[in-house]
Amino acid sequence: MKPNIHLPLTIILLTFLLLSGCGQTQNNPGNQTDWALALHGGAGTISPDMPDSLKQQYYDGLRQALRVGEIILREGGSALDAVEAVVRNLEDNPLFNAGHGSVFTSEGKHELDAAIMDGSTLAAGALTGLTTVKNPVSLARIVMEESPHIFFSGSGAEEFASQTGVERVDNDYFHTDSRYIQWRRTQPDNAFQYHEEWLEGDKFGTVGAVALDAGGRLAAATSTGGMTNKRFGRVGDVPIIGSGTFANHLVAISATGWGEQIMRNVSANTIANYMEFRNTSVDDAMNYVLTERLNPGDAGFVAVDRKGNISMQMNTLGMYRGSINSRGEHVVMIWETE
Ligand code: ASP
Repeated sequence: MKPNIHLPLTIILLTFLLLSGCGQTQNNPGNQTDWALALHGGAGTISPDMPDSLKQQYYDGLRQALRVGEIILREGGSALDAVEAVVRNLEDNPLFNAGHGSVFTSEGKHELDAAIMDGSTLAAGALTGLTTVKNPVSLARIVMEESPHIFFSGSGAEEFASQTGVERVDNDYFHTDSRYIQWRRTQPDNAFQYHEEWLEGDKFGTVGAVALDAGGRLAAATSTGGMTNKRFGRVGDVPIIGSGTFANHLVAISATGWGEQIMRNVSANTIANYMEFRNTSVDDAMNYVLTERLNPGDAGFVAVDRKGNISMQMNTLGMYRGSINSRGEHVVMIWETE
């Protein structure tokens, strides 16, 4: 009888494939060791003529925030810890419109919004109209973990803050001269920072982070001062779960841009649903929302899916953004191409 030389070869091949993790592309970790992180510091009309020194400050700020998240994820920390720490870092950086550096309301004050979401449980915490909480994202996490609710607003949000140990500041703490000048420019006609103005000026803001941790959990967090000259009690997309912030078992998303447009299109959740229902990549889903749902100049998003694929896209001129993963790939960018 002719010996079956194929059988031993097949066994060797199968053993090799099993040991080498067959079917797992580099984009599909699935081995509980991969992690990925993306962040943004706002999208809008960002002039490429920006002075080099300022450009450098933005790159440094983005890199510093990435580093904060990288350390947590590299050491096996959770996606939630990473996005909270990254957003806190960006809130403390006066360059960005969140925390210290928030824009001015029509009354010349600061009202801050933030949200955080745990994709593995769909737990979420959100706040709007904060006036004295130094790091809104951390209070959002406390809402998520220590209250039976998801969303607090205005005086109730401040009252909730008083029952926790979060650091409080005077509203003046959020003041920066550059945001003050920006607000004063809107005063003659008391214009809300609406869409057309974005196309002319350097008005942009919001910070956000999304992460996948080594345990396969996804999380998203976003924080903002909102939009310059916003009216009393205006709520933007950021704290509306599913609009500016969303995470589930498939993907984590954080948005920036014109809040009213982002809300109308329930944008972050639409990206997640498009992925799920059409079985498409995060890139395709984000592109769909940016091109088919939103108008040019409206918004930008950062997202990471459960396989560690990162997508960062905008239909504005620029978006401060950066990403890093466990394979050592990292990028920090502002414009479409650099
Ligand atoms: N989306 C934010 C808001 O409407 C603003 C921004 O991202 O620039 O409050």
